[in-house]
Amino acid sequence: MEYEAVIGLETHVQLKTKSKMWCGCANAFGSEPNTNVCPVCLGLPGVLPVPNDEALRLTVLTGYLLNCEIPRFAKFDRKSYFYPDAPKNYQLTQYDKPSTANGFVDFEFTGAGSVNGFGRVRITRAHLEEDVGKLTHFDRTSGVDFNRAGVPLMEIVSEPDITSADMAYEYLNALKDILIHGGVSDCDMEKGMVRCDVNISVRPVGTKELGAKIEIKNMNSFSGVRRALEYEIPRQIAAVKCGEKLIQSTRRWDDAAGITDEMRTKEHAHDYRYFPDPDLMPLAPTDAWLAEVKSRVTELPLARKQRFMREYQLPASDAETFVNDVALGNYFEPIAKQSKNPKSVANWLINNLRSLMTIEAIHEAHPEGELPVNLSARQIEFSQLRFKPEFINELVELVDSGKISSKIAQDVFKEMYFSGKSPAAIVQEKGLAQVSDTGAIEKFCDEAIAANPNPVADYKAGKVAALNSLKGQVMKLSKGKANPALVGEILERKLKS
Ligand SMILES: [Zn+2]
Repeated sequence: MEYEAVIGLETHVQLKTKSKMWCGCANAFGSEPNTNVCPVCLGLPGVLPVPNDEALRLTVLTGYLLNCEIPRFAKFDRKSYFYPDAPKNYQLTQYDKPSTANGFVDFEFTGAGSVNGFGRVRITRAHLEEDVGKLTHFDRTSGVDFNRAGVPLMEIVSEPDITSADMAYEYLNALKDILIHGGVSDCDMEKGMVRCDVNISVRPVGTKELGAKIEIKNMNSFSGVRRALEYEIPRQIAAVKCGEKLIQSTRRWDDAAGITDEMRTKEHAHDYRYFPDPDLMPLAPTDAWLAEVKSRVTELPLARKQRFMREYQLPASDAETFVNDVALGNYFEPIAKQSKNPKSVANWLINNLRSLMTIEAIHEAHPEGELPVNLSARQIEFSQLRFKPEFINELVELVDSGKISSKIAQDVFKEMYFSGKSPAAIVQEKGLAQVSDTGAIEKFCDEAIAANPNPVADYKAGKVAALNSLKGQVMKLSKGKANPALVGEILERKLKS
């Protein structure tokens, strides 16, 4: 009998707000322990929570980005449990009435379960809750830092539509791209902004009933999720094939050992005693509030990629660059719209502009020459550029019309970048226009032929490649300005005569 995996993911994402969910404390990573705290997020008696409006907006915005319905009624419940990092002894969370429900995410995927190169995972809900503090265990004691307690945390629950480790990985990456693009979260994995619980069961192919659900908790990297599934799927299938009865349980991924091991079984399941928080009013978003949130919906990364490929005839790799570097893509679009050759515009921006901007930023930040650790993190702003965006098109046209060679264009680009002068002005000033005057080129060809008897003899003996060496000599004599096509023609004519 063949078995298949059924996987659902619960993804926790810290929202990009200035302050915490119920108080004015900073939502900041890396502060000294217990410096971003107050009576509210420390759970002291008698305090009252005030909801963070931006966190509510970001949750509903996520709903729109994930094609969800936005119910007109939502509320917060208390999920009761004791743990040293949860100072209130309960977590405020949207239990049975979440702010969003019934959406889906489409993503590029070619493995099993894909249709025409895409995968789709349905979203059960994206709801709002709060993060807990952080425990650190020392030799004989433990410390707790409540800076993270009360940070707005969104939980995105998927339907069990995922069937493989690769599909889970692609879904998570697509989700992360959407949330970063939408301005919902920075999704910085290294700062713990995204964590994932994996629910997995196996069943005979063709059956509908779900097997015993096994949960792998608190995964903090997508590659970890993929590796854990690559281990856990065959483990469960092997177990049921041997006649073992799997029971609902929670497991832990041991990244170093590359295995999962059991933490607890269902007998220890919590009763959280959910009940509506008496200090918080239910949420009933108005039309105007929803419209305002909806106006913040941006183009999804996948749609942007497809549109750039279609409208500007770009290869997938260029379009992806403009999706990942949103500012560069935004700079590209208006220029490309005015251009007959958007692909060439893309090349200049991706291959030349980005590196010059990075180099300049590094020089500005480190005039003494010592290099920063992360080179790519530094870039100057597009608004700081000295040249006008339309100069890129001017440069592309100078090349396409044959007025300057692509080699000369490299120098013109640099000059334009640092001086802000237009490419036409630079070409004029420096006399860089390509020489298409046959008289002048003939003279250079004669010189090259006279000075290079060996390649001439080779060419006449039938070595066609020898022509390139002569061409190179002519280009050198013309200081790179001779029209290469004309040079080739004239050389051939002279050598054959
Ligand atoms: Zn606080």
